[in-house]
Amino acid sequence: MSTRTPRILVLGTGGTIAGAGSGGTGAGYRPGGLSLEVLVGHLAALGLSADLVPQEIARIGSQDIGFAEWQALHVASMGAMDDPSVDAVIITHGTDTAEETGFLLDLTLPTTKPVILVGAMRPADAVGADGMRNFANAVKVAGDPAAAGRGVMLVMGDAVLAVRDARKSATSAIDAFRTFPRGPLARVTPSSLDWFGPAHRVGEAARYPFPAELPRVAILTAGAGMDAKPVEALLGIGARGIVLAGMGQGNAPRVVLEALAACAASGVPVVRASRVDEGLVDRNVEVEDDALGLVAARALGPAKARVLLIVLVANGVTDAGRVQAAFDG
Ligand code: GLU
Repeated sequence: MSTRTPRILVLGTGGTIAGAGSGGTGAGYRPGGLSLEVLVGHLAALGLSADLVPQEIARIGSQDIGFAEWQALHVASMGAMDDPSVDAVIITHGTDTAEETGFLLDLTLPTTKPVILVGAMRPADAVGADGMRNFANAVKVAGDPAAAGRGVMLVMGDAVLAVRDARKSATSAIDAFRTFPRGPLARVTPSSLDWFGPAHRVGEAARYPFPAELPRVAILTAGAGMDAKPVEALLGIGARGIVLAGMGQGNAPRVVLEALAACAASGVPVVRASRVDEGLVDRNVEVEDDALGLVAARALGPAKARVLLIVLVANGVTDAGRVQAAFDG
């Protein structure tokens, strides 16, 4: 283990962790209202044993994050992977889409150095703000060589989560993320870090090339009594992939499944996920995936299933068998 102070690239994107304007007790605020420089300045007062190198990518609410910011985060993170003076990357991010950004990077970055997303549920100037603690925890994780080889992680609420498993499940509670199917990888405080198991992806290269473009992949939420018109509308606007946020184990009315099967037959891959909070969607349970040419999302919820399908379609993987193999992995 290295004894020198860890050098950590801090990529700022905004979010509540950099939120300002709440006046301490107010409800409204601006995500990303605080610059990364000021945020990192606040951290200096904590006396963390880390050399933080800030680089601002954006100052936005993560609901507005998109291809340009994702590309910039990927380029900067790759730079850190190749720079021997940098030990880890921390990305400050809004919590709304942390699982999407994190999972995209998880699929497209090597795992040689830790990459950690960190956010907050309360703005930086709110009473009881959680951002500084979450950041101090992220620094604790980033400084531990045992953090490498675990894929991209999310540090929130004294827990270290694999982004692949993480899902925002509360709109405002401090403990906003749940994980499925695995539980947290570790518990962390600013002064302690306990991993619950060994790294599982040591030395692994990036699983997919970063997408050269963002293909239109839509999420269609199923509802009782719906017809096939929304499926036709998605094809009409050029959808190149569809994720069904289905009922229960990825179910939808028969007419909708038939329309989705027609999409699959025409070369637009269709992945069945669930609108339910948690649980597996497996093949051929109530829906005849083999006959209809559909793919089961397994443990991924709709938002992350969409990210994986974007990466696959962008890399020319549209055949149902190969798409299913990616979701099974
Ligand atoms: N909607 C904002 C965002 O995702 C604020 C939510 C948060 O960061 O917790 O950036």
